[in-house]
Amino acid sequence: MQPFHYSRPSSLGDALMQWQGSVANSSDTTSAAFLAGGTTLVDLMKLEVIQPQRIIDLRALSATYEAIRVDDSSLRLGAFAKMADVAGHRDVLNNFPVIAQSLSLAASAQLRNMATLGGNVLQKTRCAYYRDPSWEACNKRAPGSGCAALEGANRQHAILGTSEHCIATYHGDFGQALIALDASVVLSGPNGVRAIPFASLHRQPANTPHTETNLQLGEIITEFIVPILPWARRSLYLKIRDRQSYEFAVASAAVAMELEGGIVRDVRIALGGVATAPWRAREAEDRLRGHTIDEARAAEAAHIAFVNAVPQSHNAFKVPLGQSTLVRALLDVASMEVSNG
Ligand SMILES: Cc1cc2nc3c(=O)[nH]c(=O)nc-3n(C[C@H](O)[C@H](O)[C@H](O)COP(=O)(O)OP(=O)(O)OC[C@H]3O[C@@H](n4cnc5c(N)ncnc54)[C@H](O)[C@@H]3O)c2cc1C
Ligand code: SF4
Repeated sequence: MQPFHYSRPSSLGDALMQWQGSVANSSDTTSAAFLAGGTTLVDLMKLEVIQPQRIIDLRALSATYEAIRVDDSSLRLGAFAKMADVAGHRDVLNNFPVIAQSLSLAASAQLRNMATLGGNVLQKTRCAYYRDPSWEACNKRAPGSGCAALEGANRQHAILGTSEHCIATYHGDFGQALIALDASVVLSGPNGVRAIPFASLHRQPANTPHTETNLQLGEIITEFIVPILPWARRSLYLKIRDRQSYEFAVASAAVAMELEGGIVRDVRIALGGVATAPWRAREAEDRLRGHTIDEARAAEAAHIAFVNAVPQSHNAFKVPLGQSTLVRALLDVASMEVSNG
């Protein structure tokens, strides 16, 4: 690991000032990095995939931004809340099952006790070529160098949202739950505070795979706001992985549904393990609204969700796997027993 300067600001304002001070003295905007739980960042520093000269440790902000609060209209999750704390929180378990499930199926118990929500949504891809700097061709790590995965071992890679410059999968689980619940994310940065829909936080690779989000330089995620909508309770996260112990998704689906007399009034679908960013399947949702759900209807929606899939040499299996994952998620969510209390 390369040497770096470490600091631990005591407040948000201090953290933003330190970040500005660091990048002001450098032409490289990656010269400074924020640290939360460190479970992704330190890993990548050890691998020398990223080599910030300055680490700004945000853990002192936990006291202010780790609360889990529910009011009449929303669930508010501090960005520094630990994954384990949110997954086990009674209100989350009872009223937002898709969130609890997406977090409890992610990583290992040790990691969930350390890792934060903000760090989870900003985790990097697990593309092996990205994580191993001995491979020269990786447009995400070294813009303009090419993409080793296109002709390489791409079984784990994405089939939706890819470009000729990058086919890396977005590996997180929690992001799909946030999309299924129409959540927004609160950001504080040098230009002030703003909230944006979570669904617009991540970018597809297009021809700039190294720019992964729409965060402005120096912005810190402080909170997630999940509105209490009619479909929040009837929601679930289904994750298919190569092994049942801790493992990233090969395919996953987060579904939240409002049913009235067996008819779908509204529905949100987000797919994971198959796309370059947390992936909302809007056309599939449109196919379901106003209809009852049976296997044939679910299969039709799942077919639509993958109609634009572009498989690579080793991952064509993700099309039928992704479809059957979504079918099962839709049938399971439609048959959920949901209490009013
Ligand atoms: C073996 C292993 C298995 C895993 N399996 C899964 C899995 O199945 N599913 C899954 O979803 N995840 C999985 N993960 C990923 C894990 O969930 C993430 O490493 C973790 O959530 C990152 O959180 P952190 O707080 O440690 O972030 P850090 O490592 O501290 O930060 C990650 C990134 O986010 C930035 N950052 C962090 N917080 C903020 C903030 N508030 N504002 C702005 N920037 C911020 C950092 O600068 C860094 O770039 C796994 C990880 C490992 C090592
Ligand atoms: S898929 Fe993306 S991250 Fe992986 S090697 Fe290609 S450019 Fe790099």
